[in-house]
Amino acid sequence: MREIVHLQAGQCGNQIGSKFWEIISDEHGIDPTGRYHGDSELQLERIQVYYNEASDGVAGSRFVPRAVLVDLEPGTMDAIRSSSYGQLFRPDNYVFGQSGAGNNWAKGHYTEGAELVEAVMDVVRKEAEPCDCLQGFQLTHSLGGGTGSGLGTLLLSKLREEYPDRIVNTFSVTPSPKVSDTVVEPYNATLSVHQLVENTDETFCIDNEALYDICFRTLRLASPTYGDLNHLVSLTMSGVTTCLRFPGQLNADLRKLAVNMVPFPRLHFFMPGFAPLTARNSQGYRALTVAELTQQMFSPVNMMAACDPRRGRYLTVAAIFRGRMSMKEVDEQMLTVQDKNSSYFVEWIPNNVKVAVCDVPPRGLKMAATFVGNTTAIQEIFKRISEQFTLMFRRKAFLHWYTGEGMDEMEFTEAESNMNDLVSEYQQYEEVGVDDEFDEQEEVPGEEYPEE
Ligand code: GDP
Repeated sequence: MREIVHLQAGQCGNQIGSKFWEIISDEHGIDPTGRYHGDSELQLERIQVYYNEASDGVAGSRFVPRAVLVDLEPGTMDAIRSSSYGQLFRPDNYVFGQSGAGNNWAKGHYTEGAELVEAVMDVVRKEAEPCDCLQGFQLTHSLGGGTGSGLGTLLLSKLREEYPDRIVNTFSVTPSPKVSDTVVEPYNATLSVHQLVENTDETFCIDNEALYDICFRTLRLASPTYGDLNHLVSLTMSGVTTCLRFPGQLNADLRKLAVNMVPFPRLHFFMPGFAPLTARNSQGYRALTVAELTQQMFSPVNMMAACDPRRGRYLTVAAIFRGRMSMKEVDEQMLTVQDKNSSYFVEWIPNNVKVAVCDVPPRGLKMAATFVGNTTAIQEIFKRISEQFTLMFRRKAFLHWYTGEGMDEMEFTEAESNMNDLVSEYQQYEEVGVDDEFDEQEEVPGEEYPEE
């Protein structure tokens, strides 16, 4: 069995992380006390990837998430502990401080966080050691705050140091002024991206700007809450981890996913997407066809990162269809999209679109599709953050909060240029060779699904 150790850090990390556990527990037939009440062998076949099985004597088996919950203040974790799934987690795996990080990356990474990090690593080791064959780690966190971003990336570097040959995967929430009103978020995010470039193998970019736009424009929610945004996050996380959790061939573990998706080590920032989009508590009005799902999953409005794929090119793509459907139709539809839009897929990686089908649909839907794209358009997120960073950094605004924790201005300069380099690298691979026919053609992914 190939196990994954999950970590969630900070307010956002814990909120999206615990939602992830709720959703996958439901999909695998695990109730909030850890008992199995499912109805299909598929649910248990690969349960050890995410859960430990504890024997409870007469009561039988109990499934416990291989999850470590981390924060620098107790509030969010208290809320999780007293929520309906709070008892699912191992009590010793709640690791928290009292000080808070005050949205300051330096506190999370260098001062307050550094005091807690060894306690977290002790719990991580306790989870990693008994594993039969650990495949790697996944972290949920935001990049805009102090704990998930600062302490989260500190944890990533500790994991790299201690488990250099294991895969490290993150679900990283990028900040948007539409959702949060903390002005220093571009600083925290830039300092984090600097770390992610070096210390993760794959990062799913979950962009609050895109989540907000989907809620507001597509789902017509007048003032979206974190609950609404996190519903989209949990659909996405459940979707992209489907191949890890259920039997199948394609991208069946974190390493295979990385091998298929990452042509150059630094360019490992993925754009996720999902179809059909539904609001919380209002499941699909009607079942979609495979053709509609395929069109929607490539549509810019269904992407969880506020980047327009039509302004970039795909290096690689993985599509995961869920539910009962004709494999032949899926293959045909996927080929049609590629044929019609061939200029949007780099020609120097043949067969760069991979498709998996899993029989088990997400709850409440007959069929769904999850998209994972390694597109050069992802640079738009980094450009957006970089512009906001530069405006403040030019005047050294708010810098004293960071230098006051012992940080050097140099680290800001380095982070800024590392992120700008990343943008240039994406641009370089987006450029089309002289002999390529790159005509501004009419057909674009999602064309039949006009933006609202
Ligand atoms: P931390 O506790 O210090 O890690 O700080 P937060 O996680 O609260 O980081 C703030 C950033 O995370 C801001 O960009 C918020 O918009 C975002 N954020 C906080 N909570 C959530 C959440 O539950 N869902 C989403 N999507 N974003 C969140």
